[in-house]
Amino acid sequence: MLKKKGLKVTFLGTGTSQGIPIIGSKHPVCLSKNEKDKRLRVSILVEWDDYKYVVDCGPDFRQQMLRANCDYISGILFTHEHADHTMGLDDIRPFFFRQGNIPIYAHQRVVKVLKRRFDYIFKAENKYPGAPSVEINVIQNEVFKLGDKQIVPVNGYHNKLQVFGFRFDSFAYLTDMKRVPKTEMQKLKGLDVLVVNALRETPHESHFNLEEALDFIAQVQPKIAYLTHISHLLGFHDEVEQKLPDNVHLAYDNLQIAL
Ligand SMILES: [Zn+2]
Ligand SMILES: [Zn+2]
Repeated sequence: MLKKKGLKVTFLGTGTSQGIPIIGSKHPVCLSKNEKDKRLRVSILVEWDDYKYVVDCGPDFRQQMLRANCDYISGILFTHEHADHTMGLDDIRPFFFRQGNIPIYAHQRVVKVLKRRFDYIFKAENKYPGAPSVEINVIQNEVFKLGDKQIVPVNGYHNKLQVFGFRFDSFAYLTDMKRVPKTEMQKLKGLDVLVVNALRETPHESHFNLEEALDFIAQVQPKIAYLTHISHLLGFHDEVEQKLPDNVHLAYDNLQIAL
């Protein structure tokens, strides 16, 4: 039997909804020359064996696929329906032309929103020949399979909106969380790597701020944690990084980790 390789995770984007820099902003973080202060909208690429899954498909998807030299995807998992996580769906076209229908995995509610926003993609008849197609996989808060791997959804809340995080083996990716119910915490035991959102220092109604993210990490106790969905208001990458506990780091675009 072939020896299975572990997971490889690439941070395709680590910025909050407007990305960093924000168009037209004169904020020092937006003007920073440090590459680590430039953040596309949040997404990761998770690879193992011949599988390549993308989590979320925001407005920077095309640029992210080019930057990561990604010429094949096995499918897209959606955390929730917000624009910064979904608006790149049209750009699956090159993958669709080569591969056929692209599998998507999302909550029923998210599928409904995608059908409304991208009606031409989901149309069954009289479809424009250039439009891509997807294979819909509705997920609930239950373990599902991708290839030979069991994926564990982790249910959380983004203010009142339900959001899925995903656990792949000893890696978990949670973004746009403000609250994770106690009952879900058991799914996060024994993690090597946890990724979680931390928007800025001041509180926000639908995202963990830095303090809340650090509290959450202290509860989950992963070996290492990375923060994502970062606002320019959090500060310069290199300065924030120095303030964090030893096992917590800011993620940055193009960062790759192997598990
Ligand atoms: Zn978001
Ligand atoms: Zn959101």
